[in-house]
Amino acid sequence: MGMNKKQQLANLVREMEAAAEKLPLTKNARDIVPPEGNLDADVMFIGEAAGYHESVQRRPFVGVAGKLLTQTLTEIGLPREQVWISNVLKCRPPDNRDPLPEEIAAYALYLDQEIAIIKPKIIVTLGRFSMGKFLPGVKISQVHGQARWIDWRGMKILLVPMYHPAAALRAGEVLRQFKADFDKLKQILAKIDQEVAELTEEPETPKLDEAAQLSLL
Ligand code: URA
Repeated sequence: MGMNKKQQLANLVREMEAAAEKLPLTKNARDIVPPEGNLDADVMFIGEAAGYHESVQRRPFVGVAGKLLTQTLTEIGLPREQVWISNVLKCRPPDNRDPLPEEIAAYALYLDQEIAIIKPKIIVTLGRFSMGKFLPGVKISQVHGQARWIDWRGMKILLVPMYHPAAALRAGEVLRQFKADFDKLKQILAKIDQEVAELTEEPETPKLDEAAQLSLL
């Protein structure tokens, strides 16, 4: 019997906590900020790293940027409790500095397993570090709000890169675009079932190979 999502996720968090001594930026299990949300979520949000409030409460996106994210989700009729919320780094970098490539790589192992467990239909990246995992070398100003299908380790996922809510809080124009991109997400959600159906329609009739055909004669 396979483990259910809840057990798989709990194991993954335990693994991270057990590895905290060896992982970059963490000394013990309490430094790990686990992801949270609905295990059966259609939409997974991936931010950058924990900040002060996240590291104290050990929950993602609960500080000022988190409040903007939570509020914007409510505005588009997608309550926070319905989605999955995660980060590239499961900890807080000193002085909230940018994650280093080797730190991103160390935690990618866990993020990859998380995506495989949750199996979201849509991944929304928040900010450039999260976007860089899927779309290396692109500029967020050029691709934000543009949904695209990606083939992620055999899974078809709709990727929607967005600005980070902290960036939206620093500049009015970014905030406007952040909100506009969430409105697009709302429209995408309305269409997603139809799009998934279109992608999966026309199942190929399996062709019998010669041996199989002969055995039917
Ligand atoms: N910013 C992030 O990227 N993630 C959090 O969890 C909080 C703030």
